[in-house]
Amino acid sequence: MGKPTGFLEYTRKDDTCRPAYQRVKDWDEFHIALPDAVRAQQGARCMNCGVPFCQAGITYEGKTFGCPLHNLIPEWNDMIMSGNRSHALARLLKTNNFPEFTGRVCPAPCEDSCICGIYGNSITIRDNELCIIEDGFVSKHMNPKRPPQYSGKKVAVVGSGPAGLAVADQLNHRGHSVTVIEKEARAGGLLTYGIPNMKLPKDVIQRRIELMTDEGVSFVTGLNAAEPKTAQRLMREYDAVVLCCGAGKPRPLGLDTTGVPGICYGTEFLRAAVRRLLGEEDSPLTAAGLDVVIIGTGDTASDCVATSIRQGCKSVTQLVRRPKSDYANADGNLPTDYAHEEALAFFQSDPRRFGVQVKELLTDDHGLLTGVVTTGGDTLPCQLLIGATGFAGCEDDVCKAFGVEQNKTVITEKGHYRTNVENVFAAGDMRRGQSLVVWAIAEGRAAAAEVDQFLIGYTNLA
Ligand SMILES: Cc1cc2nc3c(=O)[nH]c(=O)nc-3n(C[C@H](O)[C@H](O)[C@H](O)COP(=O)(O)OP(=O)(O)OC[C@H]3O[C@@H](n4cnc5c(N)ncnc54)[C@H](O)[C@@H]3O)c2cc1C
Ligand code: SF4
Repeated sequence: MGKPTGFLEYTRKDDTCRPAYQRVKDWDEFHIALPDAVRAQQGARCMNCGVPFCQAGITYEGKTFGCPLHNLIPEWNDMIMSGNRSHALARLLKTNNFPEFTGRVCPAPCEDSCICGIYGNSITIRDNELCIIEDGFVSKHMNPKRPPQYSGKKVAVVGSGPAGLAVADQLNHRGHSVTVIEKEARAGGLLTYGIPNMKLPKDVIQRRIELMTDEGVSFVTGLNAAEPKTAQRLMREYDAVVLCCGAGKPRPLGLDTTGVPGICYGTEFLRAAVRRLLGEEDSPLTAAGLDVVIIGTGDTASDCVATSIRQGCKSVTQLVRRPKSDYANADGNLPTDYAHEEALAFFQSDPRRFGVQVKELLTDDHGLLTGVVTTGGDTLPCQLLIGATGFAGCEDDVCKAFGVEQNKTVITEKGHYRTNVENVFAAGDMRRGQSLVVWAIAEGRAAAAEVDQFLIGYTNLA
């Protein structure tokens, strides 16, 4: 497992990032992979700790420790060190259907649990993972693999985010005929229409969809399964239906915004930005030339900051409700992510203001938004106000169409994926609530095992 003295010999080196002031001028990916020799050293840092908490994936008091997919991290670190990348790939794909997604956007709870990180810096697990899968694609090891035989069972997966894709991938390789139904023009869910291009380039998602298509998965896009007739047809014609429609219902802003233009939710803003870049739509929703105020924190808020800068906003401010002390590290420093780095480079100031909210909206004689007054008493110029205050659950229309019980999200027995409807299952954010890509994949894999058991009476899926 790595080199026993590697962590003493080599320091942690993350993938390099293009300089912030430079990368805000385009939408290209900003990480640059390390040279192979340095990557091998990073694998060698894995210290043979004996109890690899990094792959434990246990949740304790609401916090997850280790990889929810139980990725076999020490094994592939060792293979990276010895240069056996193809074996590393085989071990990685045992537990993770889409390392090219998690290798780019996972917040890496594995690294927080790395023993090497207790007294020093943890292993670069996520970057190592990305290196293995990208090497797999470049070296043509990621060839389409069709199942040797088919079971004769048909499964419809509704929603093509990471959860739906994981269900489809697992059940297809098991020999069931899988059709993925997606209401958008392209597959990928929030990977495509939420997470911005510079974090997750869209050709990376397309590459995976093409591979899955070559492996036998059918994709039907532009079809809304919440139409009652479509839902009834799917339940009638397929042996099982798995709902993976996400949890995109935004949490209300708590402001009276009636009749005031220039106010939207973060997901609407990001979706419009991606659609414009993909040439699907030229939405008027853009930050270009505007003073932007973003309410909220987390991935969505950060992605809105970075997208606003790339679109050419005049200024960007992020209002965070909780005080700064709630976010500071033990050493009192405030963690910055890629978007905050970019704002610092472009505007020479951190966009975040802590412990404040929007108290009042200011409009001109035509009713157009001109500014906001904060609870701190400041007045900020603002022509675009973006709410990124979290999510309230899944959309009601799909649940109604399929007759599935929901609270905020779809109700299933704890730890299970079957709904109150005989052949209908649910997974991902739609069942779990707004979460992470790694959890969506984990849910998709577990749901696939349950569907397999339902279809043929037993399963050998993990
Ligand atoms: C802006 C943003 C940034 C994020 N950044 C990160 C990050 O950096 N790292 C991370 O780990 N997580 C991130 N997340 C969270 C992550 O994207 C989600 O947890 C994950 O995508 C959930 O996967 P899912 O498959 O359950 O649902 P989704 O990805 O939401 O996919 C659901 C799919 O179902 C489709 N659908 C819905 N209704 C219907 C219908 N009636 N008929 C047909 N299709 C339908 C939708 O169009 C969509 O394609 C981010 C989320 C957001 C919003
Ligand atoms: S999927 Fe996320 S948690 Fe798991 S090994 Fe990769 S980076 Fe770590």
